[in-house]
Amino acid sequence: MVSGKLEDGSEKGLKGHFKEDFSHRTRIGLAPRAGHVDRDAPYKRIATEEAWTFPDLVKAQVDYLESGDAPDDDSLNMAGMFAHMPSLQEMLQDLGDLRIAHMDELGIDRQLLLLTAPGVQVVRPGDGTPLARQANDIAAEACRNHPDRFSACAAFDPRDVAGSVKEIERAMGELKLNGAVLNSHFQGHYLDEQDYWPILEALEAMDAALYIHPTAPFNAPHYEDRGFFGALAGFPHDVWLHTMGLIFSGAFDRFPKLKLVIGHMGECLPLHLYRFDWMQGNADGRSHLRGGTQPKLKHPVSHYFKNNIWITTSGVGWEPAIKFCQEVLGPDRVLYAMDYPYQQSYDEVAAYDRMDMDAKTKKMLMEDNARAVFGITG
Ligand code: MN
Repeated sequence: MVSGKLEDGSEKGLKGHFKEDFSHRTRIGLAPRAGHVDRDAPYKRIATEEAWTFPDLVKAQVDYLESGDAPDDDSLNMAGMFAHMPSLQEMLQDLGDLRIAHMDELGIDRQLLLLTAPGVQVVRPGDGTPLARQANDIAAEACRNHPDRFSACAAFDPRDVAGSVKEIERAMGELKLNGAVLNSHFQGHYLDEQDYWPILEALEAMDAALYIHPTAPFNAPHYEDRGFFGALAGFPHDVWLHTMGLIFSGAFDRFPKLKLVIGHMGECLPLHLYRFDWMQGNADGRSHLRGGTQPKLKHPVSHYFKNNIWITTSGVGWEPAIKFCQEVLGPDRVLYAMDYPYQQSYDEVAAYDRMDMDAKTKKMLMEDNARAVFGITG
């Protein structure tokens, strides 16, 4: 079942369902060639980094941005930019027929819904937790309405530590959501700062995997001036910093059952595990070499990647990278993700079907690992 070419001659996978903003897309570079999605695949496709939002949050972001009260925050600026992209908003805000129609066409059996960047952590302080509660109620309702199509991670505003703990407990307990999502930094702060560790404690206690999703770096004109606040640099750099900060803060020694998930092929971190261990072994305990005063860790950096961290393939449907990560992290630590609606691609799904991988490993990638990490049944 092929959905045909678009007006510009490109395949539907490249343009996706955007009506205005990306209509110029054509096939370049390593983008997968067009292909058929296997409609009878021996696995369900569970896509684990799929974005959504809702009108009250978009309004709160735009109002704060336009009020002139907000700090200079490229993350909030990004919300303003997204707010002015109507077909993107139409897809982000739909948790029903439109989204399911696109999933059916793209061959996605289930989406794990993540409140999209920059989320509730950029709105006027005090508004974040009520909006997180609203988000989680809406996501839970979507999961109840479509139990075979949607699962969801809980939003929280880390600036309100006590409110976050309560909301994570409510979302995992009462609402039966599948983990939590944080859109990386909050005005230049990160969860490695010990003030926020009650949140890590709650996540561990509730067995809630934490998905740290990128956002634009804080107060970063050196990225903005070059047009690199997004996926070309700012996004992966910020999650890299967040992840390394958590490891070197000793957070995983303090909370050894804490589960962290990072997207975009682990934001490039797995490729450097060798060097991380080398530097740690040569510099640990000598703070001037790392430029910090972090405590000595119980384990090599690679240990945390093999015990506390899972990665998803969002935006990087690329066979050699996926196989490398499966080899060095273990096949149980790599999860499929699409990144709908930002990087939806029919052709990319077909490329996963074509990947030369034994059937068991392929099923782990596309389905089983997501079930295990996020407690997804059905
Ligand atoms: Mn994403």
